[in-house]
Amino acid sequence: MNDYGAFLKGIEGARSFVIASHFSPDGDGIGSTLALGMALERMGKRVVMYNRDRLPENLEFLPGAGRLVRELSADARFDMAIMVDCAQRKRISEEFAAHQGFGKLACIDHHKLKDLEAEITLLDDCAASTGEVVLHLMETAGIDIDVDLAQCIYTTLVVDTGFFRYSSTNAHALEIASQLVRNGASPWEVAKNLDESYPASRLRLLALSLSTLELGMEGKYATMEVTQGMLKESGAGMEYSDEFATYPRSVKGVEVAALFREVEGGVIKISLRSKDSVDVAELARPMGGGGHSRAAGLRIRGTMEQAKSKLAGAVEEALKNSKS
Ligand code: 5GP
Ligand code: MN
Repeated sequence: MNDYGAFLKGIEGARSFVIASHFSPDGDGIGSTLALGMALERMGKRVVMYNRDRLPENLEFLPGAGRLVRELSADARFDMAIMVDCAQRKRISEEFAAHQGFGKLACIDHHKLKDLEAEITLLDDCAASTGEVVLHLMETAGIDIDVDLAQCIYTTLVVDTGFFRYSSTNAHALEIASQLVRNGASPWEVAKNLDESYPASRLRLLALSLSTLELGMEGKYATMEVTQGMLKESGAGMEYSDEFATYPRSVKGVEVAALFREVEGGVIKISLRSKDSVDVAELARPMGGGGHSRAAGLRIRGTMEQAKSKLAGAVEEALKNSKS
């Protein structure tokens, strides 16, 4: 599934594409969408770039961000749809999952996948970001990595490695980051836009959320919450809490951290992080979620208390079975 030449052959015949990543978009999904979209255009293809949700403000600086559309007309026809940074149509949107106008479905991803929905998949679960996979695909296609492509791909690496800190950071990721900077990516511009340009309301939301920190299971499990009430009180949108799960993980001795977020429609979105031993993608999968071994997510229908108690059971089991 990580045969770049075969994937390139598989998509070459198509002339029109829609490229889409998961809802609640992040820098890897969006950076990958934009880089792949711009690269395909350079290959003479017709491209529509789609995401269900409004772009978080801190990603608006990405080259090509203005090209993203949030709706697909039902009678639009594309030779191929490519899902990036996710592998299930329903993770993109109901509209995308129900769409009848895709000749073929393809997928480019770096998650550990069990079930494949796409007919053609390019999967490298060792890649630090989906953008890294897109980069190697562009290299295989002989596309020149200009400033815009470099900035988009560099951003995917920064976001998914937490500024080159997480366990996904390896020599290869650092090498390609260096190459991208040589091609014009600007580390400070990316950092400034991503992480140094928040509204003050984000810090107010963080203060409210930090006050819900709880530790359990002999200090190995830590949780935090974000409720609709906190969003109202702080004036911040939910997307500003996307990285909050790193705070409960940052406590010494914590192995598994969970951020519980009250999203609309009686659903709790849970972000899971682990430090060394628990595979949180495996933990999330039986409950309908997925992700990576150290960062995964899932959604549970119900109240905050129900979601917390269901997850606590699963975490307890996972901690028992892990070596730590
Ligand atoms: P986050 O907690 O930052 O939203 O997501 C962490 C990782 O888990 C990301 O790689 C993301 O794609 C994955 N993830 C988050 N939520 C879900 C979910 O509901 N289902 C699946 N399959 N993966 C998820
Ligand atoms: Mn990713």
